[in-house]
Amino acid sequence: MISEKMTAIGKSPSKIREIFEYSRKRKAQIGEDKVFDFSLGNPNIPAPEEVNKTIISLINNTESTSLHGYTSATGDFETRSVIAKNIKKRFDFSASADNIYMTCGAAASLEITLKALCNKGDEVIVLCPYFPEYKVFIENADAVTVETACRESDLGLDLKAIEKALTDKTKAIIINSPNNPSGVVFEKKDIIALGGLLDEHAEKTGNAVYIICDEPYREIVYGDLEVPYIPKIYNNTVVCYSYSKSLSLPGERIGYIMVSPKAKQSEDIYFAVCGAGRVSGYVCAPSMMQYVVRECDGLLPDIEKYAENRNLIYNSLKEIGFDVVRPDGAFYLFVKALEPDAVKFCEAAKKYELLLVPSDSFGIKGYVRIAYCVSYEQIKNSIPAFKKLYEDYKNR
Ligand code: PLP
Repeated sequence: MISEKMTAIGKSPSKIREIFEYSRKRKAQIGEDKVFDFSLGNPNIPAPEEVNKTIISLINNTESTSLHGYTSATGDFETRSVIAKNIKKRFDFSASADNIYMTCGAAASLEITLKALCNKGDEVIVLCPYFPEYKVFIENADAVTVETACRESDLGLDLKAIEKALTDKTKAIIINSPNNPSGVVFEKKDIIALGGLLDEHAEKTGNAVYIICDEPYREIVYGDLEVPYIPKIYNNTVVCYSYSKSLSLPGERIGYIMVSPKAKQSEDIYFAVCGAGRVSGYVCAPSMMQYVVRECDGLLPDIEKYAENRNLIYNSLKEIGFDVVRPDGAFYLFVKALEPDAVKFCEAAKKYELLLVPSDSFGIKGYVRIAYCVSYEQIKNSIPAFKKLYEDYKNR
């Protein structure tokens, strides 16, 4: 008998992947440019030139056994030190190499952190809408997912809903800002209030609640909006960072965990992170990519193209009449479906070759997600299709 649990997970592929597969088939039938695929959050801005130059230079100038060899399980010491310095410089927050653990991207960071923090039956709060993989990682840590609503008006933090969700089994809450799928950046005053709420809860119950900051989109933010650095606001914090989106390197699998030195039991959490990484078989994060992020320290993405895309899709859909959540970051637009059943709405959109993701898998009903990390032309060419879809519903 093989694992029923794993077989079930393997047999239920993500909705996004399903749409992506449909898109491939449809494009082969009617042509690439006729299908408006907005399903996948795969960055369409290439990695900065410096990244490729660094890879070439590393290959030419580093001894192969070192470049392609194992690093220590926690990650190359120099790389971790550079990251700690970067955190100090950018956020004025003091962490050391010993607080940082290199990983294969945010997915691995989350999976390891949840396993490190949770005991069987612990509860982890996720805010709807949320990245669907959270549920898989939480369940793999033998913990329980507690879905909690965001503010209906703007999908910001709903502190009352979070307060209601807290129990003496709550171990952590995952905060993802800028958010996938809503594009929302949570306000600093709400994060401060959340920290206060969690401190009060800890005082009452004696149990610390950790904030897990899932931050692959930290640098993708529009205008001069501040994305608060949560470890500066709340002590019991673990940051799960990734270079997948900020440096357009999702296939290279590189990121890190930063266990705040101010967190309760910080040293033990770091040991638990090492243990969780070990049992999950993460021998070390990809060595060459560790050296790349070390050499490319301080490199920020050029998000101008995403900003142009965002303005075009946001303004166009609003003008047509769609109800759209204001996207301040990441590269997703969250739009109210024109009927309560978002799955049916996405099926209707297919008639116009628009491939959208229904919000159901993000733990909320009645919306669709549009990933606008696609070419400007695709967005421009898709606007008449959105118009037809809207009119279709208005004339029903
Ligand atoms: N968290 C969120 C909110 C994401 O959107 C993604 C990827 O799309 C991840 C985590 C996983 O990112 P990574 O590629 O770094 O594993």
